[in-house]
Amino acid sequence: MINIILFGPPGSGKGTQAKFIVKKHALIHISTGDIFRKNISQKTKLGKLASEFMNNGELVPDNLTIDLLESEIDNYSDANGFVFDGFPRTLAQADAFKNFLNEKKMPLSAVISLEVGEHQLVSRLLKRGIDSGREDDKNTDVIRQRIQVYEKQTSILKTYYSNNLENNFFPINGERSIDIISEDIMKLLSNY
Ligand code: ADP
Repeated sequence: MINIILFGPPGSGKGTQAKFIVKKHALIHISTGDIFRKNISQKTKLGKLASEFMNNGELVPDNLTIDLLESEIDNYSDANGFVFDGFPRTLAQADAFKNFLNEKKMPLSAVISLEVGEHQLVSRLLKRGIDSGREDDKNTDVIRQRIQVYEKQTSILKTYYSNNLENNFFPINGERSIDIISEDIMKLLSNY
């Protein structure tokens, strides 16, 4: 079984690269953001709750996010493994995830960290807002807030995973073309 965390700030290309990896390695793609957006479009109770945080550029509370993630994994008992895109985003999520993986005897194979500077993130997200119509990508204040939340609450996980995983933590320069980045990731995953 292969389980990979794709890590990085909003707009760093996690979703784009996740799609390539799941295709190549026959894995399941789990994006917490996508699951929240699905709940919003289906007008579920969770969607209503989550949208208030998402529209303001804040994180959805940990307890909701962790429960959601765990029940999503439980839907795929026969999976070869997963690519986690946008999870974990806080220390509490990372700790809960570690315990969950231990309980399920699932290995954490690699953490791939896409590194992109703030200036490029903002312009990519604004472009995505125009292309996709995603509400949280249309407003510069919300975008800057998300990047700040990333810096304050999420970026610390780079140290967490580089200490915990040592040889399986991979920082990748995410400012290059989609194809080149994907080639780099495929190369490093060819050993798995
Ligand atoms: P991006 O990486 O561009 O911000 P996502 O689709 O991953 O896009 O996330 C969109 C929003 O969904 C986040 O700003 C946040 O409000 C919420 N969200 C996604 N994943 C998590 C998570 N693991 N914990 C808390 N909130 C989350």
